[in-house]
Amino acid sequence: MRLLLHSCCGPCTTFPLHFFRAQGLSVDGLFFNPNIYPAEEEEKRWKTYTEWANQAGLGTRRVKMPYQKWVEAVSKPGQCRECYYVRLRHTAKLAKAGGYDCFSTTLLVSPYQDHEGIVLAMERASLEYEIPHIYRDLRPGYLRSRQMARGSHMYMQKYCGCEFSIGGEG
Ligand code: SF4
Repeated sequence: MRLLLHSCCGPCTTFPLHFFRAQGLSVDGLFFNPNIYPAEEEEKRWKTYTEWANQAGLGTRRVKMPYQKWVEAVSKPGQCRECYYVRLRHTAKLAKAGGYDCFSTTLLVSPYQDHEGIVLAMERASLEYEIPHIYRDLRPGYLRSRQMARGSHMYMQKYCGCEFSIGGEG
């Protein structure tokens, strides 16, 4: 089964990739994170992710959207949930168009994210594009993901992504 895995960053992709491969899935990665501010930070996270992915044999694809367009899309109550939806909706769309069997996201590994909001966004995107999503609570693997990232000397950001999250947890 082919899985398109939305990757929020390199460190958060380590454990989920290992986990999904262990389930027998053939995984490709998608870097679509228009929420990352500023542009230099997005480049830094992309570079970290793709360099590591090359070593891990993970095929990757990057899709861009202007940050301002993302701001307009999420400027409503429940901003983080809209942010998840923007990213996962596009993931579902590309998974469907690319002939994948399912999609998922590395956001599921982070205890700092709104886990329920991610699940709702996945379900919504899945229904909209009529493609299955794979949900697993990957948070028990969070510490392992940090160990794996440190072991690969990866850059580990200190905030989630948008300008409003600078100074918060990653
Ligand atoms: S804090 Fe993170 S999840 Fe919430 S809107 Fe900002 S980038 Fe998106």
